[in-house]
Amino acid sequence: MADSFDVLVIGAGPGGYMCAHRALQNGLSVAVADNGPSGGVCLNAGCIPTKGFLFGPPQAGGLGERVRQNAAAIGRLQKGVDFLLKGATRLDGRARLVGPGVVDVGGAEIRGRNVVIATGSRPRPLPGLPFDGVRVLSSDHTVVLEAAPESIAIIGAGAVGCEFAEVFSNYGSRVTLIEARDRLVPEMDPWLSKQLERAFKKRGMIVQTGVAVDPSELDGPVLVAIGRQANVEGLGLETVGLTTPNGFIQVDGHGATGVAGVWAIGDVTGPPQLAHRASRQGEIAADCMAGKSPASLDPLAIPACVYTHPQLAQVGRVTGDDLILGEAFFRANGYAVVTDRTDGGVRLFAESATGKLTGALLAGPEVAEMVGLINVLIAAGVTMAQARETVFPHPTLAEVVWEAARAAGSGG
Ligand SMILES: Cc1cc2nc3c(=O)[nH]c(=O)nc-3n(C[C@H](O)[C@H](O)[C@H](O)COP(=O)(O)OP(=O)(O)OC[C@H]3O[C@@H](n4cnc5c(N)ncnc54)[C@H](O)[C@@H]3O)c2cc1C
Repeated sequence: MADSFDVLVIGAGPGGYMCAHRALQNGLSVAVADNGPSGGVCLNAGCIPTKGFLFGPPQAGGLGERVRQNAAAIGRLQKGVDFLLKGATRLDGRARLVGPGVVDVGGAEIRGRNVVIATGSRPRPLPGLPFDGVRVLSSDHTVVLEAAPESIAIIGAGAVGCEFAEVFSNYGSRVTLIEARDRLVPEMDPWLSKQLERAFKKRGMIVQTGVAVDPSELDGPVLVAIGRQANVEGLGLETVGLTTPNGFIQVDGHGATGVAGVWAIGDVTGPPQLAHRASRQGEIAADCMAGKSPASLDPLAIPACVYTHPQLAQVGRVTGDDLILGEAFFRANGYAVVTDRTDGGVRLFAESATGKLTGALLAGPEVAEMVGLINVLIAAGVTMAQARETVFPHPTLAEVVWEAARAAGSGG
């Protein structure tokens, strides 16, 4: 007889492992299937290795030295993921639905009262320019590169393209960054795009926006970072009646697919393809499976960060005639000035009627560390006036948030 579980998760990335962990906490029996290492793209080829490359000055031994440091850190963090999954049955193998509540994992039939598709995504190639790992690279290739090339063209200036532009520039490559839309990080607010473009150009990178690339005109190595496509092929979705109209699995704010007992979370459900969104979707879905009624995920409450210099961060609602703005800059912040990190600033937004914070744009040092806490303030309904009347320690970079609240004047 087939093994049977309350929850069978396909994929052990940040969506899958957080869903499994919450399901275990909810007292459900859980199995997690994956045909790769624990932690998914985020840990093995995404968030974590890129931040290793971006931290601190370039390593004397070049990119290869950092690749080895990253590998050691990834190994430690994989153990952490496995610890989170203690109590779940780990199934090693490729998984595929074969009917309602039935999944084939490496030839074994497993039953799940709830099946969660958390299979993530992979780099999307540019039409006519397939990845070859030598001249045409994806982010999967660049996270294990041993040496930075003399020059590199990066196609696509979203978070991944911009972070690698920063990495290669730091390690001495001549970088040309090419974006089809009219600005860098086009998914973020234009004010943030401007801050980054100014900094990149100041450091000698060639930035071309509004440019459609002709692959035949590119010589030297190229990193293609134009987005990621969902891993939906070979999953047997048709056996449960699931379709993928735009290449992604459609879900509601609880991760429900519309097919009873089948859930989907993370990158496979489309943008924004972010690890913390995948994780939160996973927790919400696992609470639903346990009969709880969690609030559905508010897309505006998902922070977005880019770990360039300056770092960029955005959360909440930052446009609308009903908003007031408070703005402050790092060039007037004592800690930023004395440590020579004065690029950028903070824009804080609140409803003019109630003074309640609605959102923030941040560019500058360590702002990715600040935006999660601003998200808490927004969720808690804190007003601009309350932020202004709160004591921040001095000297800290975060004082710029307080200065922005003060700059909004006595309103709110
Ligand atoms: C270079 C780069 C940098 C990034 N930086 C950030 C960042 O700083 N912050 C951020 O929030 N996000 C970042 N991301 C995005 C982040 O990595 C993804 O959003 C996140 O990994 C998605 O998690 P997931 O659980 O949906 O899927 P994944 O992490 O992709 O995990 C999916 C898992 O499913 C498994 N799988 C797939 N198909 C099957 C199958 N049929 N059977 C069994 N197992 C299967 C895979 O082996 C994998 O382990 C980055 C991505 C890249 C590429």
